[in-house]
Amino acid sequence: MRIAVLKERANGETRVSATPETVKKFIALGAAVAVESGAGEAASIADADYAAAGAEVVKDAAKGADIVLGVQGPDAKALKGANAGAWIVAGLDPFGQRGRVDNYAKGGFEALAMEFMPRITRAQSMDILSSQSNLAGYKAVIEAANLYGRAFPMMMTAAGTISAAKCFVMGVGVAGLQAIATARRLGAQVSATDVRSATKEQIQSLGAKPIFVESVAGIEGEGAGGYATEMSEEYQKAQAELVSGHIAKQDIVITTALIPGRAAPRLISDAQIASMKPGSVIFDLAVAQGGNVEGSKPDQVVVRHGVKILGYSNTPAKLPADASALFARNLYNFLSAFWDKEADRPVLDEEIGNAVRLTQGGKVVNERLLG
Ligand code: NAD
Repeated sequence: MRIAVLKERANGETRVSATPETVKKFIALGAAVAVESGAGEAASIADADYAAAGAEVVKDAAKGADIVLGVQGPDAKALKGANAGAWIVAGLDPFGQRGRVDNYAKGGFEALAMEFMPRITRAQSMDILSSQSNLAGYKAVIEAANLYGRAFPMMMTAAGTISAAKCFVMGVGVAGLQAIATARRLGAQVSATDVRSATKEQIQSLGAKPIFVESVAGIEGEGAGGYATEMSEEYQKAQAELVSGHIAKQDIVITTALIPGRAAPRLISDAQIASMKPGSVIFDLAVAQGGNVEGSKPDQVVVRHGVKILGYSNTPAKLPADASALFARNLYNFLSAFWDKEADRPVLDEEIGNAVRLTQGGKVVNERLLG
């Protein structure tokens, strides 16, 4: 069993899909690991560190590989020389990169999309969306604080008192929860909202104030598979009214709302931005999925009505060392959980295998892509 670790080629991608720690662990399972030279450079991992962990550091890592690891989906060129039927294990952006998925099928690869990992307890440690969103939620607050022309905590000084920043977090999934915790640690007064009723208690347990639509029912409990769906027009209207009343008093807004397989819901309109104080900051974590905020643009600070709006196309890539460490562990936890000693390779079960497998035997086989 030969595992290849590729250098990422996508613009702005700084992460790497294996670390010396996971390389060692794969070798302990009985695999050989080939790392493309320079793969860890942007995450501060030198070729020599991989070599010390037991990897071969080579130019054409995919050659002879049975499993190819990536952060993002590799293109055909990077896969040159991989064995017939080799697995591609990465974040494959299956809806956004459908053409590439079709090419994996044509190439005879078995593509496994890690973002399709089911939200079940035993898969938690394999979930790249959770591990990366958690860091993104943290970074969003840090970046917003950096752009904000005032301090977050209340400060009583000899020259007078500085009041605490008011921070509003919209969307309380993994990223939102970490954003709340980070803003609280920095000393902000935090409030938060979501469409899933289960998040109310989570918001309170972090010491923040829940702001919820009460007139129209949201999603009971966690929602299907822990995910939100698109809300009714009636709910959207009630939510817009609620946000309008709240947002004008906020200094920092962090938006994180996503709906799997769809464009991000629009949560903040230009008119609502206009109601905010000049100097306020909005960080749109959903900007790469279409954005929660009207006018937000990936990787640019847009100023509207004196309010600064920012969002990154790839937020976890701004924390390459930690993001890589967690991503690499997710991949290791996944492959090692299914490692079959006799077959000397991982053998997936139906529940997780069918959820993540996009292509097999020359065809696209995943229900979410076919249906
Ligand atoms: P996500 O990234 O899909 O969405 C972010 C948040 O936006 C969600 O909380 C969602 O409800 C919210 N949202 C969507 N539309 C909205 C709207 N119009 N207005 C306001 N908020 C809106 O979510 P996520 O971070 O992936 O997490 C969702 C849930 O899944 C969480 O409860 C999390 O704990 C759970 N989860 C479970 C596992 C597991 O068990 N393996 C793994 C990851 C996440």
